[in-house]
Amino acid sequence: MANYYTEHTVLWLNGSFVKATEAKMDLYSQSLHYGYSVFEGIRSYKTGSGVTRIFKATEHFDRLQQSAKALNLPYHWNTADLVAITYELLQRNNLQDAYIRPVVYAPANMSFAENKESFLFIEAWEMQPFLGDKLLSVMTSSFQRPNPKGFKITAKAAGHYVNSILASQEAKAAGFDEALLTDMYGFVAEGPGANIFYEKDGQLFTPSTGNILPGITRATVIELCNDFGIKLWEKQITLEELKKADAVFYCGTAAEVVGWKNLDDTFFPMPWERSVSKIIQDAYKFKVTEKAYRTEPAGLAG
Ligand code: PMP
Repeated sequence: MANYYTEHTVLWLNGSFVKATEAKMDLYSQSLHYGYSVFEGIRSYKTGSGVTRIFKATEHFDRLQQSAKALNLPYHWNTADLVAITYELLQRNNLQDAYIRPVVYAPANMSFAENKESFLFIEAWEMQPFLGDKLLSVMTSSFQRPNPKGFKITAKAAGHYVNSILASQEAKAAGFDEALLTDMYGFVAEGPGANIFYEKDGQLFTPSTGNILPGITRATVIELCNDFGIKLWEKQITLEELKKADAVFYCGTAAEVVGWKNLDDTFFPMPWERSVSKIIQDAYKFKVTEKAYRTEPAGLAG
């Protein structure tokens, strides 16, 4: 397991910076017992100029607020304040390339009733630099994503992640790196913690919103497609169709853009280095680190 904190680490808890080793939460919290909390996964990067930048901080804290609202968790914070607090948190912990985890949670309450207040903490830990561009070996999961008629699936709610944990553990136990989950109708949905795109004949395809978490990285990839004039389709995707792809990738705040080697026993034929997907992967890296993207997108024409 990663080392998330030391005796020197501080986190932000309900208005003050406290030592991680001294922070307390109520074991009677409704959040712990029922998975009833919302959270974010955010990254900061040491940029080309040496300055630390939180990538799409506003979008992430806005989504935290929307997630809380979707679950009826009272929310009295504002995004600009939380962004400023998070920059201070990074500074106090001497972090640049970091993973940032805010969590909104409920007070002591063993019933299912609504609460009058919520609490918030923000943690941050060092993100290890990404080593190499290993392609993922992916297994079609026996688990489907939560039914949108049973959950508010556009919210980043803790309870949904039991589904992610089950799918991930199943895939790893079977010798794969990752799982791919379908939606309630059997269409391709997403990974346990990432959205999916596939490439065919120089165009990109991704599942429409409705049965997925519409990721902030997914939105960034769509922006990059627009910038580069790469044709992008949002549609329902079958597993059979996906298996005929030239290349496939997952994208998410933590994973960034990561290519696939195979899905079950289907290996994707296009050399990653020659794919349009690789252009997106590189452009994403440049975008988050605010470095100029100088490479001509030469592979685009064919
Ligand atoms: N889908 C799921 C289920 C996720 O947990 C995540 C990670 N938050 C994503 C997609 C990607 O979202 P984002 O790009 O906002 O990190």
